[in-house]
Amino acid sequence: MRITDILATTKPAFSLEFFPPKTDALRDDLLVAIDALLPLRPSYVSVTYGAGGSTRDRTFDLVLQVREKTGLPVISHLTCVGSTREDIHDILSRYAANGIHDILALRGDPPRDHDKPAPGDFPQAADLVAYIKKEFPEMCVGVAGFPEGHPETPNRLREMDFLKQKVDAGADYIITQLFFDNRDFHDFRHRCELAGIKAPVIAGILPITNKAGMIRMADLAAGARIPAPLLKEVQACRDDAEVAQAGTRWAATQIRDLVDHGVAGIHLYTLNSADAIKQIFAELGATDSEQIRGGLSKG
Ligand SMILES: Cc1cc2nc3c(=O)[nH]c(=O)nc-3n(C[C@H](O)[C@H](O)[C@H](O)COP(=O)(O)OP(=O)(O)OC[C@H]3O[C@@H](n4cnc5c(N)ncnc54)[C@H](O)[C@@H]3O)c2cc1C
Repeated sequence: MRITDILATTKPAFSLEFFPPKTDALRDDLLVAIDALLPLRPSYVSVTYGAGGSTRDRTFDLVLQVREKTGLPVISHLTCVGSTREDIHDILSRYAANGIHDILALRGDPPRDHDKPAPGDFPQAADLVAYIKKEFPEMCVGVAGFPEGHPETPNRLREMDFLKQKVDAGADYIITQLFFDNRDFHDFRHRCELAGIKAPVIAGILPITNKAGMIRMADLAAGARIPAPLLKEVQACRDDAEVAQAGTRWAATQIRDLVDHGVAGIHLYTLNSADAIKQIFAELGATDSEQIRGGLSKG
């Protein structure tokens, strides 16, 4: 089943994002975490991809392993920065040959010591989307969206034009960067509508679990703002166990509101760990995603 089929029948769909671990021991830990998360009945999962193909084989291997283990549809992220047409054709052919038909098409970020993206055949994600849809029309393709804006495009109106270009190139859905203030998401969704973007918008949610991680996240997810009330709660915590409680409580509150507003999907950034995600479901009073949807339909 393609992600678009899931989104058409399951509202909201719950998905989990993992990254390819660097060592065998960490991969074993991840497989244990996935086992612990399966009872939550996610609709699908996704696996990230290092910019410039730095995790190409590890992503590919993990995508197949997770599909085999879970039986769930798996989205493979794919970045195009620094890649040639042949590189991209090669990896997509491997996915197609192995029955993987869901790709999150991203530009990726250039190496940190360069200001400009490394040269490649695909300057922007929109070029990658158009290529996939032309060469592999059976593929279902998602793209990234940025409720608080992408740091490289200060003009927020132009940014929506660029997002529309990705959808016009064939993107089937949008997954957002993580955000902590739902007003940013609601406003983004509204701006998508005004721009004529009809693709489903899936909300990216990350629970804060420790203070160091919060600072690292603010670096990586450039632009993600921590609202003062959340910051105040985190600052009042005596240790990371309390931070994790505050962070998962906040994420659960965000999800409750998003479900109430009819969001198409919730994409949970797991950071390869089960505890915080399970805690969010506990906060929501649900043992699995079906119960959350059931609660929604009961109003
Ligand atoms: C859900 C999600 C998953 C992600 N997964 C990964 C991953 O697995 N691996 C990874 O390396 N990174 C990942 N990223 C990060 C992403 O690669 C970076 O944020 C990157 O900087 C932008 O990628 P993009 O696909 O949005 O690029 P684009 O859509 O190409 O946009 C990049 C910038 O260029 C601007 N732009 C777009 N088109 C034009 C144009 N025609 N002219 C001028 N400017 C233009 C945009 O406004 C934006 O500022 C993910 C991000 C999200 C939200």
